Amino acid sequence: MAIDETSGKRAERQNMENIDFSKFEKNILDKGFVRLVDMMGDDYAAVKAARVSYGQGLKTPERDKALIMYLMEHGHETPFEHIVFTFHAKAPLFVARQWFRHRIGSFNEISQRYTEIKDEEFYIPSNVRVNVPEDRQKAVQLNDEELLHKVIDMMENVFDESYKIYKELLGLGVARELARIVLPLATYTQFYWTVNARSLMNFLNLRADSHAQWEIQQYAIAIADIFKETCPWTYEAFIKYGYRGDLL
Ligand SMILES: Cc1cc2nc3c(=O)[nH]c(=O)nc-3n(C[C@H](O)[C@H](O)[C@H](O)COP(=O)(O)OP(=O)(O)OC[C@H]3O[C@@H](n4cnc5c(N)ncnc54)[C@H](O)[C@@H]3O)c2cc1C
Repeated sequence: MAIDETSGKRAERQNMENIDFSKFEKNILDKGFVRLVDMMGDDYAAVKAARVSYGQGLKTPERDKALIMYLMEHGHETPFEHIVFTFHAKAPLFVARQWFRHRIGSFNEISQRYTEIKDEEFYIPSNVRVNVPEDRQKAVQLNDEELLHKVIDMMENVFDESYKIYKELLGLGVARELARIVLPLATYTQFYWTVNARSLMNFLNLRADSHAQWEIQQYAIAIADIFKETCPWTYEAFIKYGYRGDLL
């Protein structure tokens, strides 16, 4: 149970320190995942941060939730910076490249200079999309199994060939940092992402949205689920007052 420092009152909700993080793990795409590995604070952290302005702490759950709604509705977002998540993600390089553009957060990535790539570490798509003239950003899924199989065949051929050359280069004694440059953008990478809830909401606005690439949408939707489970009031307020995307 969380204990409010100001009033000493016991909060009714479970403290995040006692949470079993293993339940916050989701498989994404064919070989990827996102899992919550650590967290600091929850809805109550935002409430306490907001009330410190008045030298006050937690009140009743109804009033605490109402405060979160008020903060979100009026754009007072700094209290949400006191909720911090650390995720471990496995995603193709092209997804990671889009993800790493989100500067408000911290990343640490596995090094392909120090580790050898395994041959099963390539993303094989499960759907095929085409561009549409009305919207240059968007790509729409086609229900065309024949085309999908053809696309997968073509991609697998390239992946097999580039991996074969990668191994040959390593066999010649070429350093991993140089050999890796023949590998495709479909290669999986892994990274840690530490992000506060305010920046996470910005990520969801931009990536849990139909204008974002379908693959990163899948990660954003999974992160939204974890956000909802761990911070239900903040998530509810975000969806009601802050969310600008169209997938949640
Ligand atoms: C659909 C889509 C298409 C995209 N297409 C392209 C593209 O074609 N080319 C391309 O280069 N990028 C593209 N991007 C990436 C996009 O421009 C952003 O870099 C990315 O979405 C991160 O958003 P952000 O800057 O809000 O996030 P963060 O970097 O996490 O920043 C969060 C917020 O902090 C503030 N902030 C951060 N840094 C600064 C700063 N230096 N100065 C002032 N305020 C700051 C801003 O308010 C910002 O919204 C695309 C993104 C999307 C979602």
